[in-house]
Amino acid sequence: MIKFSVKNFSKIILVVPAFFFLAVMSFPREATSQNTSTETKLAKISFGSAVNRENLKARFQAYSNNLSLAPSATNSGDNSTVGSVTSSSPDNNQRTGKIKILVVPGHDNEYPGAEIGNIREADFNLKIAEYLKNFLEQETAFEVYTTRDADFIKTETENKQDKNGYTDYFQKYLDENISEVLDFRQSYKEETEKKFKNSLSSSSKKIEHNPAPGEMLYRLYAVNKFVEDNQIDLVIHIHLNDYAGRTGEEWKYKGFSIYVPDNTLRNGKESQALGKYISKTLDDNFKNSNNPVEKKKIILGHELIANGANNTIAAASVLIEYGYIYEDRFQNEETLKKAAEQTYLGIKNYLTKKL
Ligand SMILES: [Zn+2]
Repeated sequence: MIKFSVKNFSKIILVVPAFFFLAVMSFPREATSQNTSTETKLAKISFGSAVNRENLKARFQAYSNNLSLAPSATNSGDNSTVGSVTSSSPDNNQRTGKIKILVVPGHDNEYPGAEIGNIREADFNLKIAEYLKNFLEQETAFEVYTTRDADFIKTETENKQDKNGYTDYFQKYLDENISEVLDFRQSYKEETEKKFKNSLSSSSKKIEHNPAPGEMLYRLYAVNKFVEDNQIDLVIHIHLNDYAGRTGEEWKYKGFSIYVPDNTLRNGKESQALGKYISKTLDDNFKNSNNPVEKKKIILGHELIANGANNTIAAASVLIEYGYIYEDRFQNEETLKKAAEQTYLGIKNYLTKKL
């Protein structure tokens, strides 16, 4: 399992490779002052509403027909414009403009996720993401963003320290928003804990998520703040799976699963709906996971940062594990393309189908 959650920090003591300690040590300096930072310094936040499918469907239809969307079509009647960001309860179901989709190929060159021999999860995620981006860009109603570049697939000569493969605009965002991201994380965390004091027990006890190393934790929250700042509507996180305790001989599990936020998070409902549509189209070409903890195919929780832990995002967000990294099929370029195509069709169905 190579997913990052905010919990289970104690488990890593047993499994961390040395680089983890280095990563923690290199966590941006501001992190060390987090515990002592004054409460008044943190922005006061209140959660805005999540995106809303009816609004998304109206915008999809309007922009597919090359029309701009009149405010009345969004059932809003206000003057909200895309690009204006406020920190006070924005009504995100009244958004206008094209549908903004962020494709996040999981992991990066520095922390490549699951590995088997020379195969690195990060590289496969990137390939699927690139295909997905191409499919999505065929739609006039979509504005597509991505965190990592396809230009960069690891080669032996590449210097890992120098480049982690992020797109220029996302790298710039990472570099220029360190204290903002840390404040963002901390204020949402505090606000969420206050609001859901007793109800936030561990919803995914059976699934052991690997916690994010310090630097990666920062990057994942930066993705979420980027999503909020840019009013992204849909976030698609792309991963291949692995499981703890895998040996060379015994590869027990295969198949896909989709992780979505539960109903304690504001984006739970829409993310679950989006996840269902994607799972339906994946069903046409892929088998779902036979790992008992993924039996339900769509797995709900509130701890994955990618899904919007601590209520950090209004966007619908799904984390797709297309299968297990050692499955032979992922060596085939056509499989990667098919995975992307079925995801694209699922997203489109979510925006066009009745139910
Ligand atoms: Zn992964």
